[in-house]
Amino acid sequence: MGKKKIILLGPPGAGKGTQAKRLVEKTGLLHLSTGDILRDEVARGTDLGKQAKEYMDRGDLVPDDLIIGMIRGRIEGADGFILDGFPRTVAQAEALEKITPIDLVINIDLSREEVIRRLSSRRVCRGCGRIYNLISNPPKVEGRCDACGGELYQRDDDRPEVIENRYDVYTASTAPLIEFYKERGLLTQVDGKASPEEIFSRIMSLITG
Ligand code: AMP
Repeated sequence: MGKKKIILLGPPGAGKGTQAKRLVEKTGLLHLSTGDILRDEVARGTDLGKQAKEYMDRGDLVPDDLIIGMIRGRIEGADGFILDGFPRTVAQAEALEKITPIDLVINIDLSREEVIRRLSSRRVCRGCGRIYNLISNPPKVEGRCDACGGELYQRDDDRPEVIENRYDVYTASTAPLIEFYKERGLLTQVDGKASPEEIFSRIMSLITG
């Protein structure tokens, strides 16, 4: 398989991160998650992290120039990748077009109701970043990661008061990218209600097909 440049689109909680992690294991492609990179910047207390934190805590988008500046070099240096959480605005998508052509955009579609239900019960491992859901995909031992034994935590922006805003921000700023990539003939829709296994095999067949 040649190295592909892939974008995973979809609302928060649709399963982009979960799928991206599996795809990386299977394909060896580079995983670029702007959310993960930002959380790392915040944890390390960098200037960028300090600037981004207030937006993230409210569930708002971090300004385009900060995001593009942060991701540009990583995209330029890669011959294939899975973008997860970027682009999130038309301005970001236009900037990306100028950096490199994209092979495939996969939109994982999920309703508002389901997004809110899933994000409220999402937990993440502090050690390895593996993603759990207390209802649909709980860990074997409460509060501990199956893979590395790390502590599971709830992201600050997965709190109920922030979740609804994140969905509204998605609708206003990110959903227009569906049309953007449709017009360019790059978009494939995937039903986010399917099981993670089904979604994964669908995405794999798109990548290898
Ligand atoms: P995520 O982990 O993808 O849900 O991202 C968590 C938060 O990081 C978002 O709610 C935004 O505040 C910020 N963020 C991540 N990616 C972007 C992006 N491409 N543009 C703007 N803000 C972003």
